[in-house]
Amino acid sequence: MKDMLKKIIEEHRPLTNQGQVADYIPALGNANLNHLGIAVYDSDGKYYEAGESQIKFTIQSVSKPLVLLLALIDSGEEEVFSKVGMEPTGDPFNSIIRLETFDKQKPLNPFINAGAISIVSLIKGKDNIEKIERILEFVRRLADNDNISVDNSIFLSEKVTGDRNRSMLYFLKSIGNIEGNVEDILDLYFMQCAIKATAKDLARIGLVLSHGGYDPIREEQIVPKREAKIVSSIMATCGMYDESGEFAVKVGIPAKSGVGGGIICTVPKRYGIGVFGPSLDRKGNSIGGVKVLEDLSREFDMSIY
Ligand code: GLU
Repeated sequence: MKDMLKKIIEEHRPLTNQGQVADYIPALGNANLNHLGIAVYDSDGKYYEAGESQIKFTIQSVSKPLVLLLALIDSGEEEVFSKVGMEPTGDPFNSIIRLETFDKQKPLNPFINAGAISIVSLIKGKDNIEKIERILEFVRRLADNDNISVDNSIFLSEKVTGDRNRSMLYFLKSIGNIEGNVEDILDLYFMQCAIKATAKDLARIGLVLSHGGYDPIREEQIVPKREAKIVSSIMATCGMYDESGEFAVKVGIPAKSGVGGGIICTVPKRYGIGVFGPSLDRKGNSIGGVKVLEDLSREFDMSIY
């Protein structure tokens, strides 16, 4: 495994020159285009890595399945899915085109921005300080790493430029999908996106998800099985933006990517995988990361289909 990871990372590193780092959030534009790394945990707790697997980056949309998981535990399946659907959209993550045509006035799934913003509004806590602390504690516990925090400069960079998300949230409020103070909810969403972690952390979380919420390393049930399975299922259908279908065919692993260049993958009963590569393709997925996963999945027969 170790040699294989090294080989595919170096083989696909030149591809990073063909993508672009996300710069619509200005602070993300400082990322190094050529970084590419992968981290893998197997069920026996063995760990493998290659490339820039221990560089911290903001997880952006990779936070969406994690906050969904916490919301499911906080509020239950019924309430969560009264706010968002479970269907892929085929539209870009920040699309506003379906806002008025959403089935039953709710975002189509929890991984498009409108859906994720609706979900974070369900997180319990008396104020944003308590809510973000709960989210961070949850992510730290999943990753078994206390050293996970919010990158304040990236949070602020998105807060001052995030008017597209702001507009969606105002719309959601107007149709009664969310309650509460719009700017507070938006701040919490931008904070969850600015959580800093490494590919290694994502692999560790992916391993917990791959065992239905059970951590084979700590030998402990970290989150309930039912909720872990819901999240993995939505990762399989909606996790890779409007490239989720192609990713299912070529890689076949439940995954979620973010515009910071991260991808979390969970191979049921077998592996947790984290990828970091901030050079993105046109859909917003790590351009080198997707190719690395394609090769890895083929070599180790990881497709779940
Ligand atoms: N914070 C980003 C946004 O809302 C996350 C997008 C993503 O990673 O897909 O635009």
